Amino acid sequence: MSNFQELGLDPSLLKGVTAAGFTKPFPIQEQTISHLLAGSDVIGQAKTGSGKTAAYGLPLLQAIDMQNRKVQAVVLAPTRELAVQITEELKKLGKYTGARIVTIYGGQSINVQLEALRHGAHAIVGTPGRMIDHLKRGTLRLSAVKTVVLDEADTMLDMGFIDDVEFIIDSTPDERQISLFSATMPQEIINLSQKYMRNPEKVLIDSDEPSVDTLDQYYALMPQSEKQTFLIELLSREKPESSIVFCRTKYGAHKLARELESRFLDAVSLHGDLSQSQRDHSMRLFRSGRVNILVATDVASRGIDIPQVDCVVNYEVPQNSALYFHRVGRTARAGDTGKAYTLVSEREYGDFAQIRNLTKAIIKPLRPEDEKPVSSSSHTQYSNRIERRRSDRHRPRGFGRSESGPRWQQQQQRQQQQQRRYRR
Ligand code: AMP
Repeated sequence: MSNFQELGLDPSLLKGVTAAGFTKPFPIQEQTISHLLAGSDVIGQAKTGSGKTAAYGLPLLQAIDMQNRKVQAVVLAPTRELAVQITEELKKLGKYTGARIVTIYGGQSINVQLEALRHGAHAIVGTPGRMIDHLKRGTLRLSAVKTVVLDEADTMLDMGFIDDVEFIIDSTPDERQISLFSATMPQEIINLSQKYMRNPEKVLIDSDEPSVDTLDQYYALMPQSEKQTFLIELLSREKPESSIVFCRTKYGAHKLARELESRFLDAVSLHGDLSQSQRDHSMRLFRSGRVNILVATDVASRGIDIPQVDCVVNYEVPQNSALYFHRVGRTARAGDTGKAYTLVSEREYGDFAQIRNLTKAIIKPLRPEDEKPVSSSSHTQYSNRIERRRSDRHRPRGFGRSESGPRWQQQQQRQQQQQRRYRR
């Protein structure tokens, strides 16, 4: 493996790299930095937490002409957390260069940003929406930009950001360098690369797929209403040192974290409805280990440098296999072991079956009763079983829950016959 000197970095950047405690380049850095320094467009695919920021950040900082006070580099990120995290990393690496880096994101007072922009910025790191606000107000000009980077490019293009991203790219000069960094490489990225990039160098280290050898993946089937009790039992039984519970909605994440807290489990939430300082607070508690359960939505947790966790719970099934991998990829990293649990309700079964088919991951049933349906065609079987469990709760008095004897069945059959007669 080469060292940072051999990659052709300026002494001021090497000083920053050393001060940051980096001794050797990570693979994505080793394979992209020289292409970027040479001015090529680059598509880089590597896992979250594999050093992508420095991979594009060091060449981006090196390209800045410090005498010129105009904005020369733009990094676009899907969330404010990620934008702040990238800024911190760039400031750390560029500490001895004199580069002024400004973060721009929705949710922060525009006046703070206007003030920062007025003082001059060499590089902007931001989320697309707020950046467009500034472009339209004329408080941000990108006519001197030499470098554009899309971090977490797959999300940016997936989440309806594409028009905003194109607007920003179109506001920069034609001869700028573009690089896209991403943990997965969907077709949209390839399409964008064909439209905007000049013969990009493609560096594919690995995707966010977890290590199958060290990750135990399970699923459990249950009505949505039973998930909370199940989760509390699971966490109390397994006692993971750190776990992330993924929810689909902000409200769901907020409510669940509250419920867990009320059951004396140490949980905090991370979602888009929290203020920046609340999110920072949650992350500090979780990173320091003072709280061991993070209840998060996908968007809020995207790209954040969360340390290795023991356990990931998909409280709600992710919408696609890329998200599934992204979520469970938070555990079992770098050869460590980990467990992932997916709680599947009836409505989610179709999505889950698809993920299972597409990923070919070995997701095992957690309990014997979860065993049967594995393909989307067995959705009906599953629905029937869930219905059966639900109707268990509505059995007439005198018929115990465990009873599955002929009396109860006969009564149910009679009821069904009656219902059919009514329908006719
Ligand atoms: P990133 O994927 O850019 O978020 O980086 C993940 C973490 O790895 C950050 O805390 C970086 O500061 C750190 N890091 C990046 N490159 C190196 C390196 N070459 N050596 C040691 N740590 C690094």
